[in-house]
Amino acid sequence: MNNLKEALLYKQLDGGKVHCYLCPRDCKIAKGGVGYCGVRQNIDGKLFSLIYNVVSSIANDPIEKKPLYHFHPGTMVFSVGTYGCNMRCGHCQNWQIAHVVYAKQKQSSELITPEQLIEMAKKEGSAGIAWTYNEPCIWLEYALDGAKLAKKAGLYTVWVTNGYMHTETIDLMGPYLDAFRVDIKGFTKEFYMKLAKVPDFQPILKATIYAKKKWNMHVECITNIIPTLNDDDEQLNGIAGWIKENLGAEIPWHVTRFFPYLEYAHLPPTPIETLEKAKEIGLKAGLQYVYIGNVPGVS
Ligand code: SF4
Ligand code: SF4
Repeated sequence: MNNLKEALLYKQLDGGKVHCYLCPRDCKIAKGGVGYCGVRQNIDGKLFSLIYNVVSSIANDPIEKKPLYHFHPGTMVFSVGTYGCNMRCGHCQNWQIAHVVYAKQKQSSELITPEQLIEMAKKEGSAGIAWTYNEPCIWLEYALDGAKLAKKAGLYTVWVTNGYMHTETIDLMGPYLDAFRVDIKGFTKEFYMKLAKVPDFQPILKATIYAKKKWNMHVECITNIIPTLNDDDEQLNGIAGWIKENLGAEIPWHVTRFFPYLEYAHLPPTPIETLEKAKEIGLKAGLQYVYIGNVPGVS
């Protein structure tokens, strides 16, 4: 069993370079080099995924934990993650797997083929598969093969994603992906750059609209509200209004509590009043379902 697979969505350039156009980083990678996500390498003028079959984390979770509240409620979803990410969020809960340059570190991990993954999910009695924990789009080759098999086996499929991908990626997954649980982390360029090192968040909005409108995926949005960074009325109004206008009033918006961590260990947890304010803003914007998350007893 191998962890190497020739990548989808790349072009060869002069001088042995390659251009990966899976996500808006649009990495141009010289021979031997690795893309921003740390898991796609130019080997002798061809681009390879280094993480095909490489599973870092695995669990059978309630679908509500993703969180997805309006999609197969009450079912268990077989959840898998690998290494790497095309963002670098300063508060990432999964930084040990997401901020890894796999090409350099070669983490010890389990190799699980897509066929084995489906068998494991069925054995656990899961109703579907979720690619989650780190960013699934950078695991495209594996997620695509797994999703094809999942659909054949009667399982639903979910991406828990940061949304930072080109529409070409969505077109490949579209026929086999049922749900797109997407982070809309904030609503200014400055915030996205500061938090996630993403220079422009418009492609995330575009990808989300595309997943919903072109491929009719079930979409739920989530915003982790971080004191002083994205808790201002302007950004919250921006997100809520954008969801209503572009995705529809029936799309759930999860506003979740931040807890101090990593680069943002100096900030306080999100006050409950701020979450209630965000909920109010969502409802005022016309959203029918706004949920407060990470607060026991409050929803
Ligand atoms: S998927 Fe990785 S290699 Fe490809 S453009 Fe995005 S960050 Fe770069
Ligand atoms: S997008 Fe998600 S997995 Fe990637 S760095 Fe940010 S929080 Fe971590």
